[in-house]
Amino acid sequence: MNILLIHTGGTIGMCRQDDGSYAPAPGYLAALMAAMPELRAAQIPQYTIHEHAPLLDSANMTPSDWNGIAAVIAAHYNDYDGFVVLHGTDTMAYTASALAFMLRNLRKPVLLTGSQIPLCELRSDGRDNLITALIVAARYRLPEVCLLFGDCLLRGCRATKLSATGFDAFESPNFPVLGSFGIHIEIAERLLLPMPAADAPLAVQTIDPELAVGALRLFPGISARLIARVLEPLSGLVLEAYGAGNAPANDGALLDVLAAATARGVVIVVCTQCVRGGVDLSTYATGAALARAGAISGFDMTAEAALAKLRYLFSAGYSSAQARRLMQQDLRGELSGRRQE
Ligand code: ASP
Repeated sequence: MNILLIHTGGTIGMCRQDDGSYAPAPGYLAALMAAMPELRAAQIPQYTIHEHAPLLDSANMTPSDWNGIAAVIAAHYNDYDGFVVLHGTDTMAYTASALAFMLRNLRKPVLLTGSQIPLCELRSDGRDNLITALIVAARYRLPEVCLLFGDCLLRGCRATKLSATGFDAFESPNFPVLGSFGIHIEIAERLLLPMPAADAPLAVQTIDPELAVGALRLFPGISARLIARVLEPLSGLVLEAYGAGNAPANDGALLDVLAAATARGVVIVVCTQCVRGGVDLSTYATGAALARAGAISGFDMTAEAALAKLRYLFSAGYSSAQARRLMQQDLRGELSGRRQE
């Protein structure tokens, strides 16, 4: 088994600077890994390191970097049995979501992982994450983009970062874990996406980095004027609303702004600010008002997945009407109960 380890940056491979802060450094992770005897154990598959240039703190990641990662996977797809992407934790859920949509007919595992403490430090969680990712990528037929962190394997487009400090930093609040790592490695095969046909080639949809797609979290006191300004340049917006998908419906001007935007073709997708559960725009009058203004439900999608999906659909050339329809259908296991095809 042969794995391509795509190192994009992030804490896992960072090196301590003179001022005490951490930053990525070219060649540093390869040197660290070469000095780890455990990586020469028989259970560890062969691997090759591909270093992203430049290495990034994932706070600096952009859709162009997603395109770069997808291009490396596509260029080497037939040469490897699986792909491990080392990535910073801050935007790992965004990249995992984006790759899930960008890579169609994926028959091999693409596992994103990283760490909270750099590999160069004594108490690093990176060692376990890296070793488990290499073993899982080599041993299991996972036809999807996953995020592996701490003791669990998550569907990439369901994952969200919930802890800035804990070693179990990620969860997929609305979908069961795909795998767990205790004494045994347990993979929930029945939850995996179906394996695409062997003759269906991997198809990569690049993301247009210029697309004007955004996200906005409602807060008490938000004004119609502010929302209008935000919406003005956009073709798509993930509106992070309250609870089951509620917004201040007493503010007629705010609803008018949303209605005017949807009338000119802006796709407004309502997600919830809550970590668990999803949107049902029919529960409250404050949600029904959003639906009347033309906003659509993001159901139980994470805001990360909704944003990546909007970018993906517009990049693939779908019209606003088509994007509205597809946003409400399950394309890659990102939302419950609305499977398409
Ligand atoms: N700022 C870092 C990053 O996202 C945090 C991490 O990797 O944990 O690249």
